[in-house]
Amino acid sequence: MAEKPRECRARVTAIRALTHDVLEADLAMLEPPALAFDAGQWISVPFGPKLVRAYSIASSPRASSVLTLCADVAPAGLGSQWFRGLAPGAEVAFKGPLGGFVLEPGDQRRLLLVAEEIGIVPVRAIAHELAAGGFARPATLVYWARDAGWLVHDADLRALARQHRGFAYHPVTSAEGEAAGVVERLVTDVDGLVAYVAGGEATIKAVRAALMAKGMERKAVKWEKFW
Ligand SMILES: Cc1cc2nc3c(=O)[nH]c(=O)nc-3n(C[C@H](O)[C@H](O)[C@H](O)COP(=O)(O)OP(=O)(O)OC[C@H]3O[C@@H](n4cnc5c(N)ncnc54)[C@H](O)[C@@H]3O)c2cc1C
Repeated sequence: MAEKPRECRARVTAIRALTHDVLEADLAMLEPPALAFDAGQWISVPFGPKLVRAYSIASSPRASSVLTLCADVAPAGLGSQWFRGLAPGAEVAFKGPLGGFVLEPGDQRRLLLVAEEIGIVPVRAIAHELAAGGFARPATLVYWARDAGWLVHDADLRALARQHRGFAYHPVTSAEGEAAGVVERLVTDVDGLVAYVAGGEATIKAVRAALMAKGMERKAVKWEKFW
């Protein structure tokens, strides 16, 4: 179970470039030595009064002493520059865990997961949490990116789908259409379905509209707006 958000300190222990623009950072917790959080939650990195950037926790809540973050640094603003500047040994301060884009205890509904590009970070964390429970709640993931090079977690998600019958994985690139169009084609029955959508606002709105047109209640579509 997640803790209340608190001021934290951690030390960078590793940096990995997944692509030219997508980086991962491992942060070993210093204070507190372990952080209890739920899959899908995020941390807030301060850059000045009322100026922060949010990063979802990519790693499993089952390993709470080292957090992995994963960022698309192509936007090149304050947050991206900070992330690109991280190096092993650096100490970082942040507040967390934050956010309600998480699985609800006791909820047994089937899941539709939709991620646009780096919006995959909390969605993949949720998928791995479901995998830890053997996908007792079946889930379908639609992972959209402009091209295959931006499907940064594709191999991992393909492996997850091979291992679990309860997990269906649909990677999509712009050549094949938009995320909302795929959702429109894939979803035939919204009964007992809950959706988790992460990425840009336009995609969130389009996916929600597609689902609501099929009879889904607005509140059954949970979302995390990255940009
Ligand atoms: C709850 C939450 C969780 C988040 N988790 C992550 C995460 O795990 N990884 C991550 O990379 N980002 C994440 N973000 C986005 C992140 O907080 C920053 O907005 C992002 O890193 C860009 O910051 P910046 O300062 O470099 O650019 P900014 O100056 O903030 O943005 C520059 C411009 O780029 C747009 N933009 C920002 N990100 C993208 C993008 N990925 N694709 C297209 N346009 C974009 C912005 O809307 C703005 O117009 C999250 C945001 C929220 C609210």
